Amino acid sequence: MRLGVLSSTVFFLSLLATAQTPQQKTARYLDSVRRKPPLLLAFLHDMPKGGDLHNHLDGAIYAEDLIDFAASDNFCVDRTTSRLIAPPCDSCQRYTAKPAIRCAYDDHVLYNQIIDAWSMRNWRPGDESGHDHFFATFDKFGLVSHGHVADAVASVINRAAREHVEYIEFMHTADGSAAAELGIKQGWDSDLAKTRPVAGRGPKRNRRCHQQDSGRRRGPGTNATEMRNARGRAGMQCYRPLSLPGFTRIAA
Ligand SMILES: [Zn+2]
Repeated sequence: MRLGVLSSTVFFLSLLATAQTPQQKTARYLDSVRRKPPLLLAFLHDMPKGGDLHNHLDGAIYAEDLIDFAASDNFCVDRTTSRLIAPPCDSCQRYTAKPAIRCAYDDHVLYNQIIDAWSMRNWRPGDESGHDHFFATFDKFGLVSHGHVADAVASVINRAAREHVEYIEFMHTADGSAAAELGIKQGWDSDLAKTRPVAGRGPKRNRRCHQQDSGRRRGPGTNATEMRNARGRAGMQCYRPLSLPGFTRIAA
């Protein structure tokens, strides 16, 4: 009997010695996959990440998505610089200077060239600095990104949810800086009664933006309507069953 008590005490103590907290187990696992890129990627993908408090929308969207947006807008691409150009475009023949960007779907050389030019993929130190390459990307796809704010928001939110990001704050200038312009014009007066008459001009601007949007005129002035569209496209319907990952979490 005493022997039994002793052996179970020893067993219990040895259990205590090997017991690990969840944090220790996770750290051990991370160490074990640190040099195994596919497993490390899977680990980081699934890891809960809390909030992303400084997400620049234009920098967060994937080049593959931008190609899709540009194709839907019938843009062309400069085959040498990978910069977007407004239509009309050349044909998809390999020697043309500005093929339609949708030609890239059947031309993997062109497709890969655009992805490399519009992102940091395959960037090689030496040809140009990482800083220069990164900031040059915006000029190349700028023609299309302004007109697809809603698509971009939907894409980034849904990807964030799949990667277990719980919360995002976008860094994005809506309405082509209209709010900032209004603020500068208004200045600041602690007497709010004096502030209101000028601030009240806001809706005029909104109406114009709305007309722009419903007329499908795309330009740098993205607006509140675009953001509302993002809800629709991404499945942010408050009273319907939610299916996309970006919103199932909100519903839970
Ligand atoms: Zn920033």
